[in-house]
Amino acid sequence: MSFCHSLWKYLGPALPMECPMCHAVDYFVLHSRTLALFAIIPLDCSYSLRCQHCEYEIHVDDEEDVAKAKGLAEQTRLLRQGAITEGDFARCLAENPLVCTRLVATVNATRNCPHCGAEVPGTFDRCWNCDAELGSGEGDVEEAPLEAGSDESTPSSFGGIQI
Ligand SMILES: [Zn+2]
Ligand SMILES: [Zn+2]
Repeated sequence: MSFCHSLWKYLGPALPMECPMCHAVDYFVLHSRTLALFAIIPLDCSYSLRCQHCEYEIHVDDEEDVAKAKGLAEQTRLLRQGAITEGDFARCLAENPLVCTRLVATVNATRNCPHCGAEVPGTFDRCWNCDAELGSGEGDVEEAPLEAGSDESTPSSFGGIQI
């Protein structure tokens, strides 16, 4: 028996984007979750955006993000009622970038380690596998590639010096 109850409130679809988990392109739905004592005394309220197709959930922590997400849920409703146009909605989306979804996008953008080829999340600046520094990205990999030719092909001259 628990004295703390989680009250979920459905606030409506708010954000069209590709789910990083199941790759469905659909609206993420805004929910608020209130922790309440005996289901009456609210203790804490948190918000999240959820994929409608899988259980993927993005926590909306930032206060500004919460306000923006609520605004977008409202805009989505207006769009569905035909009160605003798709263009209006797109503009509203562009003007209200959510920090939480930007983080998701960065985490999802992976790159390959130039040294060992391991897939590394975009937020890492070191390879988790070989510990190579990944830096800011392209163009600064200056190390000579390791030549695998250690077999029969022994050069007849030593270090370029002719005898
Ligand atoms: Zn999903
Ligand atoms: Zn590596």
